[in-house]
Amino acid sequence: MLRSTSSLTLPERMTLGWGKLRRFYLAHFRPAYVRESLARRVGQCDRTGACCHLMFTCPLLDQKSDPVRCTIHAIKPKVCRLFPIDERDLRDRDIISPHTPCGFSFVPRQEFLARGPAAVREAETHVHVEAIDLPKERGEAHPHGH
Ligand code: SF4
Repeated sequence: MLRSTSSLTLPERMTLGWGKLRRFYLAHFRPAYVRESLARRVGQCDRTGACCHLMFTCPLLDQKSDPVRCTIHAIKPKVCRLFPIDERDLRDRDIISPHTPCGFSFVPRQEFLARGPAAVREAETHVHVEAIDLPKERGEAHPHGH
């Protein structure tokens, strides 16, 4: 069950607003960070739609379909396509969906880096930022393994 955006406290709204700015900055100006972070990401989108309710409900979300559906899925913005970029995004989205976790999680950064530079580089080669997409139906395996 998702929280309504009208129930958000001011600090929660500020956290979510800051998260939007952070993601925009990372998605557009920090490609190396995004690549490394996504190389640590495991799981898949469960299509709860929680990330479409951060601060406000996106008007492009079709809430009548089950599961919910992005009406501009094929051309949606990079920030949507990349979500979640890192653990901070998961914390933000958990404000909206405190009882149902995101289908994605992250291998802790220290643990990931401890695998050594070769393993990190290898993991990063499997991240294709421009090709990252959501599965079409709930439960469908993600085409790129993220
Ligand atoms: S994925 Fe689509 S519905 Fe969700 S926030 Fe992005 S544009 Fe809106």
